[in-house]
Amino acid sequence: MPLFIKKLGIDLGTANTLVFVPNEGVVLNEPSVVAVSVPENKVLAVGNEAKVMVGKTPDSITAYRPMKDGVIADYRVTEAMLRYYITKAIGKWNLFKPEVMISVPAGVIKEPILAAIGAGIPIHEPIGHMVVDIGGGTTDAAVISLGGIVASTSVKVAGNKIDQAIADYIKKTSNLIIGERTAEQIKIEIGSAIPVDKDEHCQVKGRDFITGLPRSITASANEIQKAIDPELREIMRAIKNVLQETPPELASDIIDKGIVMTGGTSLLRNIGELVYRSTGVRAQIAEDALLCVAKGTGIALDHLEVYKKNVLAKR
Ligand code: ADP
Ligand code: MG
Repeated sequence: MPLFIKKLGIDLGTANTLVFVPNEGVVLNEPSVVAVSVPENKVLAVGNEAKVMVGKTPDSITAYRPMKDGVIADYRVTEAMLRYYITKAIGKWNLFKPEVMISVPAGVIKEPILAAIGAGIPIHEPIGHMVVDIGGGTTDAAVISLGGIVASTSVKVAGNKIDQAIADYIKKTSNLIIGERTAEQIKIEIGSAIPVDKDEHCQVKGRDFITGLPRSITASANEIQKAIDPELREIMRAIKNVLQETPPELASDIIDKGIVMTGGTSLLRNIGELVYRSTGVRAQIAEDALLCVAKGTGIALDHLEVYKKNVLAKR
């Protein structure tokens, strides 16, 4: 760990929190989860340590995501979480009080611009670029030109809703109750945005809805694809709405450049192909899609003179 960290860019996401240090890279990447003891209302664990507790806690502990659905649901817990991440990233013995820039959903800093900077898009060009960030709680689609946002939208449909759709489907078809982590694992293991030629299967363990006893079943990639299709369609609709609001000259640039996709849910298999089929525009997944906003935040902070007016939203 470097001794004197002066600048930190933080992506406080609904699913994951990342800390980026200029010239170092991403130094911390942990789930935005906090475990709290109910009787004393005390924070017990944060990040990785808290995530393994989700769905496995006794009544006296709750493990939850304070940034759920893209809003800060609990300030006190979010503050504890941030303090933990900052201390962990810079170490206790860091001599400087670091300058910190934090990107939060629906915050005062424009996340799509940060995602674009982090994805290596030259945002100041007079050329239209479209960035679609699909995370845990929200999907944010924006067209950027000359350093500003020309058209954008944010919808509360992303990875978490996809997980929920998987859990609902398994419950409906097999009478099996599964937790959110299991649903997420199924998505990552066999999920696909479009039907696959060679169907794949995975084992799913949960609790029988009728008998209450543990049981396992087999799920197939193509049935899961059907189960998550309504959520994916909503995401596609959001992208289409932004394209429809885009002035023609910029639309023409976007056809040439393609859509750049960031965020963890952009890693869902075949999602670029679904975007192409839904919009007619090619889509490419950004390199290190999960890290773009954190990188962009760190870069913007490091070159604040260049980016200040681009990243700050007028309030
Ligand atoms: P946020 O910015 O909201 O914290 P992230 O960009 O970190 O969200 O993305 C988290 C989401 O990405 C989660 O819903 C997670 O399940 C999903 N995800 C991560 N990896 C994959 C993958 N390989 N396939 C599909 N979804 C993924
Ligand atoms: Mg994000």
